[in-house]
Amino acid sequence: MAAVPNYAYFQGKIVPYSEAKIGVMTHALNYGTAIFGGVRGYWNDAEEELFIFRPQDHLKRLYNSAKLMVMDIPVGPDELMERMVELLQMEGHRQDVYLRPMAYFADEIIGVKLHDLQTEVTLFSVPFSKYVANDTGAHVTFSSWRRLDDNMIPARGKIAGAYVNTAFIKTDAVRAGFDEAIVLTADGHISEGSAENIFMVRDGIVYTPPITDNILEGITRRSIIELARHEGYTVIERSIDRTEVFLADEMFMTGTAAQVTAITKVDHRVIGDGVMGPVASRLRQMYDDAVRGRLPEFRHWNYPVYEKMVVKS
Ligand code: PMP
Repeated sequence: MAAVPNYAYFQGKIVPYSEAKIGVMTHALNYGTAIFGGVRGYWNDAEEELFIFRPQDHLKRLYNSAKLMVMDIPVGPDELMERMVELLQMEGHRQDVYLRPMAYFADEIIGVKLHDLQTEVTLFSVPFSKYVANDTGAHVTFSSWRRLDDNMIPARGKIAGAYVNTAFIKTDAVRAGFDEAIVLTADGHISEGSAENIFMVRDGIVYTPPITDNILEGITRRSIIELARHEGYTVIERSIDRTEVFLADEMFMTGTAAQVTAITKVDHRVIGDGVMGPVASRLRQMYDDAVRGRLPEFRHWNYPVYEKMVVKS
């Protein structure tokens, strides 16, 4: 079994992880009524610093997810940010980490609803490296599942229950021998990967599905759009047809966990030259520099954990 964290933020304070426990009647466990975030911290060896990547943007999305779920997070984003830093300092990580903020309906009652429920918030962090093993040459499939529609469960929120859709997509892809899957919207356009946004390069132009195609509004997606434009690429957000993918020069996917993962084969068809292309390769390198604080013009994305020590070790 993987190692568990030493600490968790739970019911308003940081406690040993073993004390962060919920009852089996908890609403969120029964009905999937939780929302969560997935944030990375990157270790920079030269500066001996752990940088959280775009924490304010992740927190904004977390509070937006709560809004969609009629959920009142009992602490504000500034306080949650402070607890996040404190938790990471207490863990004392000197490696890349994944941070999971989560808010959930904590009532131990029977009844499917969103209103008149108590929200609790929690945080934990674990060491984390690669998510997609084959990240310079992933073979993906088109999932036979369809992405949840905004009128079913909004994909723009990170809603725990909605991740059952994601789990179907991922498991069927992996069991069929693929690294990942691209899932289509109900009307047949590219939506996203199981936990990644999708990008396509055709004739030097970078395309990605719009936020109206049932995607999670990815923070890596937003970062890659900014980095690509900074590099002089034209980036267009528009719907993408299934068969455009087969004609693409390059495909890649982005996500906090997957970072920039090149897709070199889709359903046994070779994409472009069948190897990671120049655009994916350039953006992948830039992204790695950006997340570790090595790009001065994007340094505002990096929040140093140890610079302002609040915890005495
Ligand atoms: N889509 C889904 C369904 C996801 O779960 C994720 C991971 N959070 C992403 C896209 C990528 O979003 P981000 O870049 O913010 O991690």
